[in-house]
This record gives sequence, C-alpha cells and structure tokens, in this order.
Amino acid sequence: MEPDGRLAQLGAIRELPHRDALGFPELDESFRQPHETYRAALAVEARVLGALGLDARTVPIPERPCPWCASELLLHTDPDGPPTVTCTTGPSCTAPVRCDERGRRVWGWRELPALVVALDAAEQHAHGAVAA
Ligand SMILES: [Zn+2]
Repeated sequence: MEPDGRLAQLGAIRELPHRDALGFPELDESFRQPHETYRAALAVEARVLGALGLDARTVPIPERPCPWCASELLLHTDPDGPPTVTCTTGPSCTAPVRCDERGRRVWGWRELPALVVALDAAEQHAHGAVAA
C-alpha cells in the first residue's frame, strides 16, 4: 500500500507544469556536476528575482526630479543590499549627501527617508506654485 501511495504522489508531481514551461534549466543535466548545480541554482535565483522585480537593476524615478537640482533620480535595487537612489547631475548637485564612486550624489538606506520628505515638499511647493 505504501509504495503505491508514493507512486501516486510521484504521478501527481508529474502533473505540475513542466519546468521548461517556466524557463528553468534542465535540472537532471545540472545535477551531474556540482559546479553545474551551483550555476543552475544561480540561474534559477536570477529568474525568480527578476520575475519578482527584485534583481539588481537601475530605473529612473518618473516625475520625481532631484529636489536640489531638478535632474533625474535613479533607483538602484540589488537583492544583496538595500536600495539606493542617485542623482544624475554628479558632484555639482547640492544635495546634502555623499557622492558615490562615480561622483553621483547617493541616498543610502539611512538617507532615503529624508529624500522622501524632500520630494514631498518639492511636490507640494510645485502644486502650490501652480495653484497660486
Ligand atoms: Zn541632484
């Protein structure tokens, strides 16, 4: 009875969508070599993080310019660390934060709340200027 039950469970597993339909690498091939397994795990991790929008990427923040110089702000996400925001102007931007290795003003995890407050204040000021 028990072996049949296990076989029935295996049969149920086979009914799940085939992993190729999800775009994952063929695991049977990958498990032949430990380093191939590691590479396959990294590929799967990258696909899952990408599908969730949590992979390392840089995207512009639409309609929210830098409150200090009005240039475009970029949001940088990375699964291995907290998000950061940079200003595209460079060191001549007067934002009260440090510059990164590329000379861009950067808001790290601790500075992000202050940036949000400044962005909201700039937006309210802009709406006030339009209404006046
Ligand atoms: Zn700026």
